[in-house]
Amino acid sequence: MTETDRCPCGSREPFAACCGPLLDGAPAPTAERLMRSRYTAFALGRTAHLLRTWDPATRPASLELEPGVVWRGLRVVDTWAGGPDDDAGVVEFRAAYRDADGAALLAERSRFVRRGNDWYVGPAEVSVAVRRAPAPPPRSRR
Ligand SMILES: [Zn+2]
Repeated sequence: MTETDRCPCGSREPFAACCGPLLDGAPAPTAERLMRSRYTAFALGRTAHLLRTWDPATRPASLELEPGVVWRGLRVVDTWAGGPDDDAGVVEFRAAYRDADGAALLAERSRFVRRGNDWYVGPAEVSVAVRRAPAPPPRSRR
């Protein structure tokens, strides 16, 4: 990943103009931007950003990412509040990934809270579903 590569979060912006600065500690202006930067942190294995942006009330002491997971794309489906003048927000998204069991889609509705200048992924009220892609049909041979 170089500074000019497109950001993994799917914004079509260069990494350096999108999630890059957030991963280096810049505050996220909106809940959606924080959510996108957390997806990018998962994709790039930047656990420090994941921990730092976790609500301190529910933050784990350490975090180990599942090995062998490849994040393949993010789509933000819906947002509620989470703007510069809000103290809370909800972001619903779909994130595609592949692991040892094949392709899967994570559907999540996450709650975010703002404290001072910083957004955090909030406590609870996160609903998650994972949908597995069906096994590909056997190729027919002629
Ligand atoms: Zn991004």
